[in-house]
Amino acid sequence: MSSLRTRLAPSPTGHLHLGHVLHIMYVQGIAANLGADIVLRIEDHDQSRCRPEFEASICEDLAWLGVTAPKGLWRQSHRDDVYRKHLEDLMRRHLIYACSCSRKDVQSSIGQHSGELTYPGTCRGRPIPLNQEETCLRLVIPDESFSLVDCMKGPISQNPAHQCGDVVVRDRLKQWTYQFAVVIDDLDQGINLIIRGEDLLSSTGRQLAMRKLIKPDAPVPIFVHHPLIANPAGQKLSKRILSESLKSYSRTSLGADELRGFVANLAGLTPDASPIKLDRLPELFRGIGEKTST
Ligand code: GLU
Repeated sequence: MSSLRTRLAPSPTGHLHLGHVLHIMYVQGIAANLGADIVLRIEDHDQSRCRPEFEASICEDLAWLGVTAPKGLWRQSHRDDVYRKHLEDLMRRHLIYACSCSRKDVQSSIGQHSGELTYPGTCRGRPIPLNQEETCLRLVIPDESFSLVDCMKGPISQNPAHQCGDVVVRDRLKQWTYQFAVVIDDLDQGINLIIRGEDLLSSTGRQLAMRKLIKPDAPVPIFVHHPLIANPAGQKLSKRILSESLKSYSRTSLGADELRGFVANLAGLTPDASPIKLDRLPELFRGIGEKTST
């Protein structure tokens, strides 16, 4: 693969916390090792939860951690026309239908796949007008398995038709969903290296299915799903520690290097919490993705 491009895609629905610091360290370290560019994207598709003050705070914290936001930030809330164009194209291909199932209907009628709710296609084929109030729009997901080798998780295979069923692309509030916007943005921003937390691993198959429907000839990106913060015994840390806003650290005497050291140690990456400078990150993540990207 020639030039690699990855992304940081924060959602301004809250302040950054320690889990984000670990994620940013992975992105900076792996990108430096693979010679990848990092682009920034503000994932503000859910306007009911996003706030400008969170975005300002995120950009400030990112700068503190060595990521500078370019002028004219890429933001999902400015891309309504683009998402609409793709929606119309999928509609012309009869791949979109309106769904009037309430959350309760969905919960009572559907199957489960490893703890995830699988929508059984109840409204597929029902003549519900596409613009009716109180409905969402779903994309028909073909019955197909997607297999790849994740750089940290190893081989994975997912069949989204069985895992989640037809994916919601626009919700009942007429907002674009994360799954739809992220696939189109990854294509349009030329992202060929996706580094993210392992909590998003289950989204990979459905995003590849959508990517194939939207742009069949687009190559499959390299994926890295990294562990989240847990203590060395593998137990999840308390929500309070994890969710503490970075503001409470950046406004104290703790520097970014000290914070990186603290987080790396919490995540079990280092034996102690000695400060970590930005230029030590490549060494910390050496080897990840190096085979796949050459
Ligand atoms: N916006 C998502 C988040 O903040 C990131 C999604 C992704 O990396 O695909 O968790």
